[in-house]
Amino acid sequence: MAASVDGFFDEYGGKYVAEVLRRPLDELETAFRKYMADKEFLAELELIRRDYIGRETPLYFAPTATRLLGGAQIYIKLEGLANTGAHKINNAIGQCLLAKRMGKKRIIAETGAGQHGLATAAACAKLGLDCTVYMGEVDVRRQQPNVAAMELYGAKVFPVRSGSRTLKDAVNEAMRDWAAHPDDTHYVLGSALGPAPFPDIVREFQSVIGKEVKRQCKERNIQIGAMVACVGGGSNSIGFFSPFIDQKEPRLIGAEAGGIGDGVGQNASRMTGNASREGIVQGYKSRFLIDEDGQSLPTRSISAGLDYMGIGPQLAALGSSGRVEFTAIRDTEALEAVRFFARNEGILFALESAHAGAAAIKIAKEISPDKAIIINMSGRGDKDVFITSPVFRPKSWLQFLHAEIERLEAAKDIHDAAVMSEKKE
Ligand SMILES: *Cc1c(COP(=O)(O)O)cnc(C)c1O
Repeated sequence: MAASVDGFFDEYGGKYVAEVLRRPLDELETAFRKYMADKEFLAELELIRRDYIGRETPLYFAPTATRLLGGAQIYIKLEGLANTGAHKINNAIGQCLLAKRMGKKRIIAETGAGQHGLATAAACAKLGLDCTVYMGEVDVRRQQPNVAAMELYGAKVFPVRSGSRTLKDAVNEAMRDWAAHPDDTHYVLGSALGPAPFPDIVREFQSVIGKEVKRQCKERNIQIGAMVACVGGGSNSIGFFSPFIDQKEPRLIGAEAGGIGDGVGQNASRMTGNASREGIVQGYKSRFLIDEDGQSLPTRSISAGLDYMGIGPQLAALGSSGRVEFTAIRDTEALEAVRFFARNEGILFALESAHAGAAAIKIAKEISPDKAIIINMSGRGDKDVFITSPVFRPKSWLQFLHAEIERLEAAKDIHDAAVMSEKKE
């Protein structure tokens, strides 16, 4: 399905890495080709998808949203119902199963907001693999709920203290680890980017989303007018779009983070923004938010999963050719979409996915009522309560946090007293 040609999608992609990483990347590519043609491997993957991830995920018709928006029929692909709450598990399980077949005992991954780390930690727990997640120290501090979950799944979370101590430093550290331990270790990269063959591998494992949509629409005789997905690195969108790329229709729309405005540092718009340029960063050629010297520019989004300076090379190519349209959605529009779908359909979108929801709200009237817009709800919004509550109900949330701190401090006093009395005894 629109795979790369020697690792390139038109001019984007490639494998710009140090010599030490060429061998593990080549070995991975060979194994990937072999196992994607291996019936036993595919049957095992299929079973895990069904029983562990919970596939297929529903394609939900949204009657109230359809009526209120007054245009296309609105359908929502509920990836948020996948185990662990988002699409990232599709890739994590696929790569971990592949690594196991390759005889690797140890998995490493990078994570920013913690969602990919969490999915990889869960996949490793399920498949009995050792797991280390590299995470910038700043992110470790900001994303404690996900760190706690990764540790529950038995992963070691390694705080990265170099550079800006965020996602790109975590990627560098994971690459370094892989280069040092290629024989027993597999690096599970989290989105459809990085050096070849990762963009092909991640698209392939995420294409289960688009294949299900195609089948579900055919079974129910749904005519698709447009498909909308949010774009961080690009894994949920490219997986969702992939069976449709080689066709002229439907419209494929990527929603990137418009943040709080158009200025540098106010968004993460790599395809629609005016601060983005071509470059080669972290092993691949694509569009990035970088300055003339190739240094990364600050990014901003209310959704941690869309707040990344790069975009997958295949999406950059599809944007250039015009097959995929891009639009930027502001933080306020995403928040409004969270509220809209929660109230009218009983579906709580992740903030990332709400960018797709907001884009659908905007274009619903452009598409005739006999056609459908399909929104990929890449994840569910439970994880965002620490971000949405301070916006929607700031006073009660502050009271809650104060009360929690008091409760914990009181519990600590009780704990300390217990330790003291134990010592006396
Ligand atoms: C990580 C994440 C994204 C963005 O990543 P892609 O690789 O662009 O899919 C989108 N939605 C959710 C729920 C995520 O966790």
